Amino acid sequence: MRRKLAAGNWKMNGSRAALAELEALGSPSGAAEVLICPPATLLAQAAGRVEGIAIGGQDCHAAEKGAHTGDISAAMLVDAGASHVILGHSERRADHGESDADVRAKTEAAWGAGLVAIVCVGETLAQREDGSTLDVIGAQIDGSVPDGATAANTVIAYEPVWAIGTGKVPTNDQIAEVHDALRARLQTRFGAEADGIRLLYGGSVKGSNAAEIFAVSNVDGALVGGASLKAADFGPIIQALN
Ligand code: PEP
Repeated sequence: MRRKLAAGNWKMNGSRAALAELEALGSPSGAAEVLICPPATLLAQAAGRVEGIAIGGQDCHAAEKGAHTGDISAAMLVDAGASHVILGHSERRADHGESDADVRAKTEAAWGAGLVAIVCVGETLAQREDGSTLDVIGAQIDGSVPDGATAANTVIAYEPVWAIGTGKVPTNDQIAEVHDALRARLQTRFGAEADGIRLLYGGSVKGSNAAEIFAVSNVDGALVGGASLKAADFGPIIQALN
């Protein structure tokens, strides 16, 4: 039985005042796990602020420490109170040129520090339209997820690039096709352990479409951007998982 997960990605949004949104969310009352990934400046203040809301980073460096100006190590995230880290988000892949090999190295670093890695994969609109979605995602999984993935140390987020922040959402059949393929790919690599690895859908999830998306085969929760910034928007998404 996979525990459902509602993960919020605040991206480069939020000042200290935004922490009030965590308090407005309150302690989770249902069975689903709730995670917020605020910007790094807010991590330490967000951690432990509301009982039951876990805190995660949005990226980490692959190295343990050293001369990497502006970067944050996995151990630093742990020190600030994080339990999870998002890796390989399409905005990191696009804005910072992160390759699958980079994401793989970061995932190993995250595991080494004791973090749960949320590894993101997803196709562009051009890839969706030329019919290569499953090939693209399969290659991203193979390249980005190291050997040694377990249900405890890894979550996969399927986020079609064209659905992020656009209000466009794939059909339920399109989501099911990718999530079923992801499960099969993980089973090929990790055997029965793959049955416990949670698969999140991400891309324009809102209170109004969450229940429908969560009913899709092999969807174990969501990675939510815009609608995670306000408790009034994120709360109904969490509720739809419970
Ligand atoms: C995201 O960037 O992880 C995301 C899913 O964004 P949004 O929910 O805003 O589409």
